[in-house]
Order: sequence, then C-alpha cells, then structure tokens
Amino acid sequence: MTRVVILLGAPGAGKGTQAANLSTSLGLAHIATGDLFRENLKNNTVLGEKARGFMNSGRLVPDALVLEMLFDRVAQPDCKSGYLLDGFPRTLPQAVALEAALGANTDVQVLNLEVSEESILSRATGRLLCRGCTAIYHRSFRPPVTSGVCDECGGELFQREDDQEVVVRERLNVYHTETAPLVEFYSKRNLLVGVNGEQTPDRVTEVLMSALAAVNSSDNGGDK
Ligand code: ADP
Ligand code: AMP
Repeated sequence: MTRVVILLGAPGAGKGTQAANLSTSLGLAHIATGDLFRENLKNNTVLGEKARGFMNSGRLVPDALVLEMLFDRVAQPDCKSGYLLDGFPRTLPQAVALEAALGANTDVQVLNLEVSEESILSRATGRLLCRGCTAIYHRSFRPPVTSGVCDECGGELFQREDDQEVVVRERLNVYHTETAPLVEFYSKRNLLVGVNGEQTPDRVTEVLMSALAAVNSSDNGGDK
C-alpha cells in the first residue's frame, strides 16, 4: 500500500514547516512543488524560465507544467512507499489528475491547515528561507540564532520575492478562487481533516500526527 499525505492550506499557513516535521516522523518523502520550482529558477532551467513570471506575480504556474514536474518527481525511488505533498494539488484539474494517477492501492489522507487571513499576512511577509537547505524561518516567530544565517547549514537567509505584501494578497486571491474548492473536493470523498493552524508549530504537528493516526485506526476498524 502506498501512502500519500496531502497538506492543504493558504500560502503561509505553515505547510512547509509542518511537512518538514511530518515527513521525518512518518518516513515519507517531502515533495513541495514550490521548492521544486525555486530549484529550477535557481538553476535557470527552461522550466524555471517558464515558471518565473507566474511565481513572481503571485499567480499559479499552468497545470500542464506542474503536472509534468510532479509526476516526474514522484516516480523517483524515494517515493515508492509514499510521499507527503506540500503545495500540490492547488487546482481542481491537478486534484483530478492526481486521483487518476494514484492506483486503488493507495492510502490518501488530506489535512487542511486552517489559519486566519491576518496570520497568513504576518506569517508570509515575515518569512525567510535558507538558500542552502530550504529551511524555513520567520523574522519574529522563528528567528535564526544569528541574524541572516541558517541554524541548520550556515546558509544565507533571504526573503522570497513573492512574500512582499502586494504579492501575498494576490496569492491569497488566487488561493480563494483556485485552491479553496479542493476542501470540498476532498471532503466529499471523506478524506479531509481540518486542523487549527493557529497554534505553536510543535502543537500543530502533534494535532496533525494524531489526526493521521485516528484516520488510520478508523480505517482499520480501531477506535478513534
Ligand atoms: P506555507 O508552506 O504554507 O507557505 P510556511 O511553512 O513556509 O508556510 O510558513 C510560513 C511562515 O510562517 C514561515 O515564516 C514560518 O516560520 C511561519 N510559521 C509556520 N507555522 C507557524 C506557526 N504555527 N506559528 C507561527 N508562525 C508559523
Ligand atoms: P509555494 O512555495 O508553495 O508557496 O509556491 C510558490 C509558487 O510556485 C506559487 O505561488 C506558484 O506560482 C508556484 N506553484 C507551486 N506549486 C504550484 C502548483 N501546485 N500549481 C501551480 N503553481 C504552483
């Protein structure tokens, strides 16, 4: 049985922060489509050049480009027993394509991080990323020990171009029109669990882990 865990939530809700914790605990590969695109931008690939304008203006990269990149990535050996998706799917056609690609022998669980618009704005506009290892920091909520330097690898921290407030607002608009309908898509399939993302990162991880365990035990006929 392949296990696929999907983290849904608005931009800045905490998906990447939680995915890093969950993928270690669950032993699943962490697949973040935003990180894959940023890697392509950094390496000036053809895909990166195609994606750049969409990303920097806060729009979504067209589905065909995202799907090709995603299916290439999950075909790698480290995804054989399962993977954790962060930032994918983001549109209904992406969700439909994923569903069609996953065999019946796949256990899919979807967790939706619920966070207010006010928190989204302060989280995204204060976010810092490491150029070296993609670790995630926040100027106020998770500052590095030494300003501008990654605690994990000593790499340089930077602010994402699309984390300027005007672009974050556009990304939120896009989230509401394109991505929010996925909550209903997965609720209808009885796969979705909503989690309060307005707690400390460690507390959110605990709640996500118990939500995943509860879904698994109810699938197996156990107590919730
Ligand atoms: P996403 O992947 O959903 O865009 P991130 O995980 O990158 O979100 O988090 C966005 C910002 O919010 C980061 O700067 C991160 O450090 C911060 N953050 C994440 N989770 C929390 C939390 N529970 N409380 C406060 N800040 C958080
Ligand atoms: P993220 O790091 O998840 O916030 O993604 C950064 C940007 O990459 C998004 O604003 C989009 O432009 C692009 N992107 C990432 N994942 C997807 C996706 N699944 N579909 C379309 N665009 C995406």
